[in-house]
Amino acid sequence: MIEVRDYVGLTPAQARAQWKAILARSIVSKGSKQDVFAPIETLLCFGLGLIGTRNARGRINIRESDPSTVALALLFKRPAGSLALKLANLDGRRANGAKFEQDLWIVLTSDLHLFRHLYEVIIDAGRVAGLDFDVLPDFLGSESATFGAFLEADQVSTEMLREEVEPEMKKLRDSSALMDPIETERLLLGSARVGQTQFAHAVLDNCGYSCVFCGLGFRAVNLPPSKMLVASHIKAWRASDNSERLDALNGLAACPTHDAAFDSFLITVGDDLSIVRGPALIVAIARDVQVARNFGIGGMLDHLLMPINARPPGPAYLGWHQGRSKVGA
Ligand SMILES: [Zn+2]
Repeated sequence: MIEVRDYVGLTPAQARAQWKAILARSIVSKGSKQDVFAPIETLLCFGLGLIGTRNARGRINIRESDPSTVALALLFKRPAGSLALKLANLDGRRANGAKFEQDLWIVLTSDLHLFRHLYEVIIDAGRVAGLDFDVLPDFLGSESATFGAFLEADQVSTEMLREEVEPEMKKLRDSSALMDPIETERLLLGSARVGQTQFAHAVLDNCGYSCVFCGLGFRAVNLPPSKMLVASHIKAWRASDNSERLDALNGLAACPTHDAAFDSFLITVGDDLSIVRGPALIVAIARDVQVARNFGIGGMLDHLLMPINARPPGPAYLGWHQGRSKVGA
C-alpha cells in the first residue's frame, strides 16, 4: 500500500529506480489501463500545478499544452489529460482520489521547501538515468541560479488565505455538503497557497527576477536569491478581490527595502512607469545620507526596470496605488 511517506521520504535511489521503471514502460494504447502513477510522476504533476492555471472556482489546473506538460506526458507514456486528472485527485476534487493523495496535497502545500527538495532529487535522478533537458524539462529551474526564488516570494500569510477561502467554505456549509470542515479547509488552503505561488512565479518571471525599482537581481550572478525578492501586490491584497489577488498584472518584483517603501506608499509608479517619490520621502532624502543612498538617485531608477517583452502592470492597479500615495499632497 502506498502512503504519504513513500513520497515525502523519497531517496535518490528510489527516484532512480522509479525512472528506470518508467523508461521500461511500453506505450499504452488508447482505452487500455494505464500503469499506476509512480511517486515521482505524481510529484512532478504537483510541480506543474505550481506554474499552472486556476479554474473559475480557484482550483489548480495543469496547462495541458505547456511544453513541459507535453514533454512529461511523452516521457510517462500517458495522455497529458491524465496528468491534469492526477492533480485533481490530489486536491480533493475527484471522489475517486485516494485518501493519502489528499493528505499528500496538504503536506506539500504547507511545506513547499520540502517539495523543492523532492523536486531536486527527482531531476537529479533523471539526469543520472540519462534524461537530458529536452526529454525531462527542468520546468521549475532547479539547475538555474534563481531556483526556489518564487517559492519564497509570496507574502500572503495563512490567516489571509483563510479569509480567501471563507466564501467557498460558507457556500459548502450553507449547502450542507460539508462532510469534514477541517479537512476541506486544509485542502482549500492548499489550493489558495498554490494560487499565490503561481502569482509569485508569474510576477518574478515577468519582471526578469530583479527588483523593478533598483535592478537588484540574481540571474546574472550565481547567488541564491533566497528571500531577496518578493512578489508585491500593487493594489494591496486586502483591498483586492480574489481574482485581483492572483492577477500577475497586479504584481511587481521588488527587493525587501523597495517593497516596504512601495507597500507603505512612500513611492509609487506613474502611468508612464516612472518611479515617483512621495513628498515625505523627498524631505528625508535631503536630510539623511542613508535614506538618499537607498531611495535617491543611484538608489532607485527613473522608470521601472522590466524586460523588453514584459507585460506592463495593469493601469487600474497603478491608479489605485497612485490614489493611496496622494502624490503631490
Ligand atoms: Zn530594490
